[in-house]
Amino acid sequence: MKITGYRSHGVAAAVALVNAVTVAGGDGSPNALREILRVHGFVWQDFDPATADEFRAWGRELRPFFEAPGLHEAVAVLNGLLERTPTHPHLADHDGLGLHMHHAPPSAKLPLRFRATTLMHLSELVCTYGVGRTGVCAAPDCDRVYADTSRAGRRRYCSETCANRTNVAAFRARRRSPG
Ligand SMILES: [Zn+2]
Ligand SMILES: [Zn+2]
Repeated sequence: MKITGYRSHGVAAAVALVNAVTVAGGDGSPNALREILRVHGFVWQDFDPATADEFRAWGRELRPFFEAPGLHEAVAVLNGLLERTPTHPHLADHDGLGLHMHHAPPSAKLPLRFRATTLMHLSELVCTYGVGRTGVCAAPDCDRVYADTSRAGRRRYCSETCANRTNVAAFRARRRSPG
């Protein structure tokens, strides 16, 4: 069971953006950014490649939230961003999603709509679950971030791939150690 659906797609979008623009090998090209918007239910048709830098900057600003060592630090990051991000609730119904809340007015440009939505959804996640569901991948050589929206909420890796190879490495290390 997913605890978050399209009404909190901003959480997954934030993760995708941070990984695209702050991780070695990430793809922050306009095409990649447009794809993030499309996959995560934003009005990607409004994307203007000239605003790519605004999205990249926002990804870099969100990263410290995922790196925060505790709730206090995470809240400070979010509050700092909330202070600088004008939000304005608005009810919308588009693309067959059903009635849902937008956090910026319809007149706002897409980068602001994206900032407001990702920020509000991360804030809601923290209010409900604290920081136990977000973080940086526990694999030693991976710095991708993740958000766990599963019911169990025990995720520590950015992907199954990182979880599996880390477990395999630990298993081999145990076998190698004498005794
Ligand atoms: Zn919407
Ligand atoms: Zn990883």
